[in-house]
Amino acid sequence: MQGFSKELIRHNQTIGFVPTMGFLHEGHLSLVDQSTNACDVTVMSIFVNPLQFGPNEDFERYPRNIEQDIELARRAGVDFLFCPTVDDLYQKELPVTMTATKRTNVLCGASRPGHFDGVVSVLTVLFNIVQPQKAFFGRKDAQQVAVVQGLVDAYHFPIEVIAVDTVREEDGLAKSSRNVYLTDEERQQAPMLSRALNNAAEALSDKSIEQTIEDMNSFLKETTSGKIDYIQILHYPELEPVVEKKGKIIIALAVQFAYARLIDNIVLTLKEEK
Ligand code: AMP
Repeated sequence: MQGFSKELIRHNQTIGFVPTMGFLHEGHLSLVDQSTNACDVTVMSIFVNPLQFGPNEDFERYPRNIEQDIELARRAGVDFLFCPTVDDLYQKELPVTMTATKRTNVLCGASRPGHFDGVVSVLTVLFNIVQPQKAFFGRKDAQQVAVVQGLVDAYHFPIEVIAVDTVREEDGLAKSSRNVYLTDEERQQAPMLSRALNNAAEALSDKSIEQTIEDMNSFLKETTSGKIDYIQILHYPELEPVVEKKGKIIIALAVQFAYARLIDNIVLTLKEEK
């Protein structure tokens, strides 16, 4: 892959990169769309990265369907589909490891210790192999976008990080590979996550942060059987507590259903303090 990339760069081709864990859906494909519009060549990776899963998480049963992914990627206009194995990417014992220290003590970083260490590690490897000018990430994983931007800035990767809006089902549920693990009943309830976020976004100018979170909590407890992992409102992308209600703010949540942990968020800009 690195050989192909070097050759493309030598021929002045711009490389757009879409890293994924596969089991592709329209969310992934919208990143591909953005890449094919902005770059000459689009590289997608499919790699379920063991480093970013905790010991009790769903690495083993993360959904996979490579045949279907190849077809979807081809139809979407992906030029290179890079599907390395664990041994291809990582030496047996890494001589240098990475720790994501900022923007990771909240949200998924707090619930999934080590998760973002795994994310920055795999992206460092993938960025060095693929050598893209632009890399595309979904806003559904807003904390990931914030952490990756931090990585790229701190270590001067010559890469532009481009964030792409969340693609949703018609009822508002954010598309996710993990949605297939919702039971029928949970699938009916799942749109309440985005409903809670939209309600909160509307209410936030008139309510305190604490009250908004409490109302979201009650709403989700009433309308879903999932266990609320977190509901947080923070400045974005710094992911610091909101002291003054102004500027860019993220309302984010995670709900654990029986076999699927779902996350969603909304980012809004508050004009003035009320
Ligand atoms: P994943 O395969 O879940 O690691 O996702 C790969 C990339 O696709 C990440 O940058 C995600 O943020 C992005 N992505 C996943 N779901 C969506 C969605 N519903 N809308 C937009 N981007 C998404």
